[in-house]
Amino acid sequence: MGLFSRRKTKFVDSDVLVIGGGMAGCGATYEARHWGRDLKIVCVEKANIERSGAVAQGLYAINCYMGMQWDENQPEDHVRYARNDLMGLVREDLGYDIARHVDSTVHKFEEWGLPIMRDPETGRYQREGKWQIMIHGESYKPIVAEAAREAASEVYNRIMVTHLLMDKTKENRVAGAVGFNVRTGDFYVFRAKAVIVAAGGASHIYKPRAVGEGMGRTWYAPWSSASAYALPIEVGAKMTQMENRIVLTRFKDGYGPVGAYFLHLKTYTENAYGEEYESKWYDHTKELVGDYVDRHPVPTCLRNHALLEELKAGRGPIRMVTKEAFQDPHKETIGWENFLGMTIGQAVVWASQNIDPKHVNPELTTSEPYVMGSHATCSGAWASGPEDYAPDEYQWGYNRMMTVDGLFGAGDTIGGTAHKFSSGSYTEGRIAAKAAVRYIKNMGKDAPQVSEDEYQGLKKKVFQPLENYEVGRNEIVAGTVSPSYFSPIQGLQRLEKIMDEYVGGISTGYMTNEPLLTRGLELLDMLREDMDNIGAEDLHQLQRAWELQHRLRASESVTHHTLFRKETRWPGYYYRGDHMKLDDQDWHCFTLSQYDKNTGEWELEKAPVYHIVD
Ligand SMILES: Cc1cc2nc3c(=O)[nH]c(=O)nc-3n(C[C@H](O)[C@H](O)[C@H](O)COP(=O)(O)OP(=O)(O)OC[C@H]3O[C@@H](n4cnc5c(N)ncnc54)[C@H](O)[C@@H]3O)c2cc1C
Repeated sequence: MGLFSRRKTKFVDSDVLVIGGGMAGCGATYEARHWGRDLKIVCVEKANIERSGAVAQGLYAINCYMGMQWDENQPEDHVRYARNDLMGLVREDLGYDIARHVDSTVHKFEEWGLPIMRDPETGRYQREGKWQIMIHGESYKPIVAEAAREAASEVYNRIMVTHLLMDKTKENRVAGAVGFNVRTGDFYVFRAKAVIVAAGGASHIYKPRAVGEGMGRTWYAPWSSASAYALPIEVGAKMTQMENRIVLTRFKDGYGPVGAYFLHLKTYTENAYGEEYESKWYDHTKELVGDYVDRHPVPTCLRNHALLEELKAGRGPIRMVTKEAFQDPHKETIGWENFLGMTIGQAVVWASQNIDPKHVNPELTTSEPYVMGSHATCSGAWASGPEDYAPDEYQWGYNRMMTVDGLFGAGDTIGGTAHKFSSGSYTEGRIAAKAAVRYIKNMGKDAPQVSEDEYQGLKKKVFQPLENYEVGRNEIVAGTVSPSYFSPIQGLQRLEKIMDEYVGGISTGYMTNEPLLTRGLELLDMLREDMDNIGAEDLHQLQRAWELQHRLRASESVTHHTLFRKETRWPGYYYRGDHMKLDDQDWHCFTLSQYDKNTGEWELEKAPVYHIVD
């Protein structure tokens, strides 16, 4: 008898199923209850929503707040800002929709107990920058989770969702999801009328700068494992802008945030010889991207670009000048507190390297690339827009519904909407849930049905790595080397190496081209073939195996998109060596992809960018 057939199967019925209880998932769960008082709302999370997701260890700032009550900014201003930062390409309808609702989300957070700093003179929220407000945010996630727990009918922690289920009565309609409990090994079948995917972004698809024992030290959360992309991709949902993967300039080795330093402490950067360097690269950058270099603020990718060029010119390292600001005791306190609220590791790194920022200017570096939809980047699923604002071409159903019926998304999952951050992701969860409830109410008696064949087949597949290990371990030849299976960490390192060397990671200075991408796809295909032989010695490794499956699927998507867009749209995030310039004439558009699981083929197309805000 195989291992999989010994496992218990548990069935959970719901109206709204929320996958991932991070910021967007908590927002969706909370709002679904508001509109669907009598509905069964289930949230399923692979960790524990109390401390899960990218906000697990807290934040020091809420990066998306308009301040409309004080007439500080209007939603249109935020659309202009995000559009500028993303070199012209954002879904303005989706961004506007978040911006017009985000303030109410932040007010809820404050009501629930999140301490938001206030300017002692004006009484308004203390601004860190035009869009950011400062918080004492160590407990940000528990506060947000509490409201979601209250709203949910049930929260299932410690269950990793591996696949979505499709309706057996209607093509292209979602019917639920399956996963397994990472502690008990029980198999779960979630049946749902609508599903909201809110499973965060993707780290560790590229080889990180920190390797070996330190490889858990990445900028984005190491547990963000691309489920947000793999789950929809596998059921045929269209994705957008997957080539727009982000590279961050951060403090070296600890990836400590720089926002508060630049914006609030007014620190600045210089090269190894104490020189300002960004202006040196102006003409060169203008050659590549034209007028985009003249925009204010200068787009994030272009600031990376200047730093990378200065390093290539041999004038590194680049340092943040902290010595001046830290002479002011108030600023010194803010500088350290900034890490205590969200990245304690950076303070520890500095202590271990004898860096006191009052006396030593710390080094900056650029990170390995990440895939996400909520920061200065907008990879993710292609979603229908708000009925009152989206152009016809962006509307095929309910707000935030993907191209699969009943499948919604929010936060890092949804593409085209950069700069939503924690508050915007939560807000998008609320927007998606409101639409999902309406979708269910309009459904009448025509509810989706899951197919027993489908979930039984998936059950076998999900636990296969345990079986592979149980059989193959007898053949181990040395250490952990087996001729018949490989471990999740071995597979992860292989994936990271392919992405790094062929799809523009750190070792090539983010450079790639058509021959490299084509070979990269061949190597990813070979890894995919080998995935049938992945082995897992326990449930923890089984989770790692499925995280790798999801990372691999997202990586394939990133590579296809990067190959399709024949221009370098975002220098500083990646470079197409064979198309080094931005090409607005041919590529002022979104890229869309669709995977067909029956043929294994990817189809790519362009979609228009509508500028709704002037
Ligand atoms: C280092 C760092 C600094 C940041 N700084 C700021 C800041 O200062 N201000 C700000 O406003 N924002 C900041 N952000 C951005 C903010 O954290 C994200 O925008 C936000 O968390 C995205 O929300 P999300 O719900 O999409 O993803 P997450 O909050 O990451 O939630 C995803 C959830 O899905 C779960 N999950 C994943 N896969 C599965 C699966 N297969 N099955 C079940 N559950 C799954 C995860 O465990 C997680 O709980 C920062 C992010 C990082 C990483």
